[in-house]
Amino acid sequence: MRETIEFRIAERDARLHLEPGLGVSLGGSIRKVVLPMGDARVQRIAQLNHAYGKRGDAFFMSWNLRRSYTERELRSAELLNWVVRAHFEPTGSMCGTVYDASSECPHCGAGARQVSELLLDTRRIPKGKDIAQTLSGEMVVSSRFASAFLEQGLRGAEFHPVLHHGRGALQASDWRQLVVTSKPLVLSPRTVAGNNPFDLDEAGAFRCPLGHVAGLNQISELYVEKADRDDADLWVTDTLFGDRRGELRPEPRLLISPRLRDVLWAMDAKGYALEAAHFV
Ligand SMILES: [Zn+2]
Repeated sequence: MRETIEFRIAERDARLHLEPGLGVSLGGSIRKVVLPMGDARVQRIAQLNHAYGKRGDAFFMSWNLRRSYTERELRSAELLNWVVRAHFEPTGSMCGTVYDASSECPHCGAGARQVSELLLDTRRIPKGKDIAQTLSGEMVVSSRFASAFLEQGLRGAEFHPVLHHGRGALQASDWRQLVVTSKPLVLSPRTVAGNNPFDLDEAGAFRCPLGHVAGLNQISELYVEKADRDDADLWVTDTLFGDRRGELRPEPRLLISPRLRDVLWAMDAKGYALEAAHFV
């Protein structure tokens, strides 16, 4: 597994503190720097960010951790984190999908229940993908993925209709809402969550006191408890990541079995990445 981190840094700050040839300039005002996680310069950037933080500023504007695997590593994984890469908006609620917020946690905002069919502007779903997600975490899959899942006798999900909400009356669409029905896998405390890889939220500002949310971001690979897992092929984690802000909602992570991985590979599905995950 190869872990890299991408930073976006204001060009004037980068010029002040980083070697001139490091990274690429995006439009002249932002420097994009991609480094292996183990690189000494990552620690240097973390220290600079810490120092900037003391005066209420930040050295990097954003970060993005990526893990890449060889096919052999993914083939030998006992469990995989199914990472959705295709995102779109408007969200379901912006298109008229009805949610019952009475069950929402007052601390973290998790737990609103969808009580209508999923309404979306399906023209906004990225073309050619087999899985995609709105900013609120609503997940849709292609009808060809839903058919393959059912034909292969895989377990742990239902596929509900997605209605197209355009200018006129609601219309049926080729998309299906992915509804995970298996028993959620219990997230192990070995999974690292935090604000960023250098700030693990010691104060717990983004951890729900009732335990619904582990933190703002997933930092490490996923570790889940092996005890009392059901024999499904698709699961969500019982604990979520993220924040309730605007259209954003805390979201679980998706986990899949090697059988479902093989189905995704056989159909050459699009719109996702895979990471190794672990039972403990
Ligand atoms: Zn909560």
